[in-house]
Amino acid sequence: MKCFGGIKTKRTIFITFTFKMEKLPTHIIDSFGRMHDYLRISLTERCNLRCMYCMPEEGVILKENGKYMSKNEILQIAKCFVGLGVKKIRLTGGEPLVRKDAGEIISELSKLPVELAITTNGILIDKYLNMFLDSGLKSINVSLDSLQKNRFKELTRRNQFDKVMSNINLLVENNFHVKLNAVLIKGENDDELLDFIEFTKQKPVHFRFIEFMPFDGNSWDKNKVVSYDTIIEFAKSKYGKDLIRLKDKKNDTSKSYKIAAYAGTFAIISTVTNPFCDSCNRIRLTADGKIKNCLFSNLETDLLTSLRNGENIESLIYESIWKKKAVRAGMTTTDEFTSPEEHRKNRSMITIGG
Ligand code: SAM
Ligand code: SF4
Repeated sequence: MKCFGGIKTKRTIFITFTFKMEKLPTHIIDSFGRMHDYLRISLTERCNLRCMYCMPEEGVILKENGKYMSKNEILQIAKCFVGLGVKKIRLTGGEPLVRKDAGEIISELSKLPVELAITTNGILIDKYLNMFLDSGLKSINVSLDSLQKNRFKELTRRNQFDKVMSNINLLVENNFHVKLNAVLIKGENDDELLDFIEFTKQKPVHFRFIEFMPFDGNSWDKNKVVSYDTIIEFAKSKYGKDLIRLKDKKNDTSKSYKIAAYAGTFAIISTVTNPFCDSCNRIRLTADGKIKNCLFSNLETDLLTSLRNGENIESLIYESIWKKKAVRAGMTTTDEFTSPEEHRKNRSMITIGG
């Protein structure tokens, strides 16, 4: 496996950690024994929407192009991760499909022995449909925070509801595995919960309700979080015995349900009120080539610069993941986690990728 950039140098002894390991790891593990085999790659910090919970109102300052990973650098880093045991790669952003060479990147990554998936806002799906079909990318998550055209526009600050809905229908017609992500925010779209669940009656989609999470610049307020308990109590009150709890897969971040006889299912991602850190297997690679060992951590490891310097990046990957904290970047108490100060140290979501 080649995990070097630039000139190929002799494989160096990569255990430069300050701690001692008996033998070289064969997989990416942290000090709590959690195996990390899922890589989320952000392709860009750009986006064609401006979701109020994700992008700061003033926007984000983009870096010069050379600061972001090129297509070849993405492929090189991805191959390194696959060599270290990564089995699933999800592309995200910003909006991954606004990147001009997104199609080429998807096509190349689809040749790797991994499950390839994408999270998108759905606007450009029709343009990419054939390439998804050709590359075998079947698992697509689409963000959909409202079923009301005007509200969609308010939440995303763009008038793209019709396009997104017609593209979701296109995916369903073409038998893609479709997950719809809705960030529920009190007073903004929580009154649509029943409509979201009813949407799964005819359509074989998996709706996921994500608790509103705090990041730099998103005016997060714990009182705006619609909790797992609230959602389940509501669903029980509406559907009674027809609400069925489904079995979750290993490493699932969501708890899944369905309503008896409905075509689709739904789930809740309870990062705020009930985090799932003990089964976390995720590594995040930002568009500027840094890895984050936790969504809420402000510690980053710069793989891109090392790759460009012709250095071996394996040791950096191992070291970063080894240092991962047990729970949400070390924010163990509710007070710490709900403090805006803590999250101001982190990036805004649009520059992480979810
Ligand atoms: N542009 C793509 C999209 O919207 O699906 C991919 C990037 S977006 C950052 C990835 C996911 O993060 C989306 O499902 C979005 O809803 C979610 N997200 C963004 N900000 C969030 C927040 N503050 N709390 C919870 N989820 C958030
Ligand atoms: Fe863009 Fe996705 Fe963030 Fe919305 S959630 S602003 S679509 S990156």
